[in-house]
Amino acid sequence: MIISLDRAIELIRNGDIVAFPTETVYGLGADVKNVVAIQKTFDIKGRPADNPLIVHISDIDQVYELATDIPDSFKKLANHFWPGPLTMVLKKQAAVPDIVTAGLDSVAIRMPDHPIALELIRNTGPLTAPSANRSGKPSPTRAEHIIEDYGDKLPVVDGGSSTIGLESTVLDLTSKQIEILRPGAISAEMIENLLKTEVFKSTDHAADSLPKSPGVKYTHYKPKASVNWIHSVPSQFDSKTFYILHSKMSGKTEKNVVTCNGNFDLLAKLLYDYFRTADHLGYSQILVETLPKLSPHPLIPPLKNRISKSVGS
Ligand code: AMP
Ligand code: MG
Repeated sequence: MIISLDRAIELIRNGDIVAFPTETVYGLGADVKNVVAIQKTFDIKGRPADNPLIVHISDIDQVYELATDIPDSFKKLANHFWPGPLTMVLKKQAAVPDIVTAGLDSVAIRMPDHPIALELIRNTGPLTAPSANRSGKPSPTRAEHIIEDYGDKLPVVDGGSSTIGLESTVLDLTSKQIEILRPGAISAEMIENLLKTEVFKSTDHAADSLPKSPGVKYTHYKPKASVNWIHSVPSQFDSKTFYILHSKMSGKTEKNVVTCNGNFDLLAKLLYDYFRTADHLGYSQILVETLPKLSPHPLIPPLKNRISKSVGS
C-alpha cells in the first residue's frame, strides 16, 4: 500500500513499521528505540534473529548516541561518503537494544543518500532498516517489489527506483585492521585512497573461517530460478532460460535476453529487478554472463558478490 511521507512519519511515531526508499535498496523502517516495532520487522520479513540490522540516521551527531570508542577514521569516512552507500560498524552504546545488533557489542550505522529517507529520519529519529524484501527474495529496488512481496500488509513510501540498486558496503571499524564485511558501491580502493591505509576484505579470510558479519552467511539475494554463470554470450539462446548479459548487443529483442550493454551502473540498478522478472515470467533458470576480471568499475565486486551468492544455492 503506497502512503505519503507524512503518513509514514505518523506510523513510525505510533510504533508501526513502513518501507521507504533509499539509494541502495528499499528499507523496512522501525524506531531504533522501539523493540516491539523492530520485532515486527523481523516477523514480517521472516528474518533470522541472528542477522543484525543497520541503523539509519540523518545527522552525524546521532552516531554519538548509538556508538562509543569511535575511531578518527570514522569522521573522515563519514565526512567524505555520507550521506551514501557506506555502513560503518562501531562499538555500540549500551542503550542500543540487543535485538538491533543480534546480541553483538557492535552496531552498524549508515546515512542514506535519499531525500525521502533523510526527511523521514529527521522527523522520527534513527530507524533500524533491513532491506524491505521478504527473507529469501531479492532486495526491493522499487515500491512495486514491496507490494509484490506483501500485498497491502506493508505501507510503503514510493520514491521511484533506487539509483544504485545494491546494498551498502559494510565496513568494520571496531578493530585496528579496517575490514570490508560486505562489498557495495563504496569500494576498498575509494576507502584506501581516503584513509591512506590498507583495507582488509572479508574474502581475504580462509574459506572455512566464521563470517564476521552474521548476515553474510544468508543468501538473501536469490530469485526462485536457479542462477548460474556463463562465460560468454551464447550463439543461440534457449527459450526456457533467462539471460542477464553485459556484452554490447544490437537488434536482440527476445524477452528472455537482457543486457546492460557494458553499463555496470545499469546492471547494478536492474539486477534484482531482472531476478524478479525472470521469476514472474516463470523461468526456472537464469544464466549470468561472467563479469570482466580486470575492470576497475567499483560495482564489479558487489555485483560479483551478490550474483555468486545466488549461484548454486
Ligand atoms: P540488510 O539489512 O539485508 O542490508 O543486511 C544488513 C547487513 O549488515 C547484514 O549483512 C549484517 O550482517 C550486517 N550487519 C549489521 N549489523 C552488524 C554488526 N554489528 N556487525 C557486523 N555486521 C553487521
Ligand atoms: Mg537484506
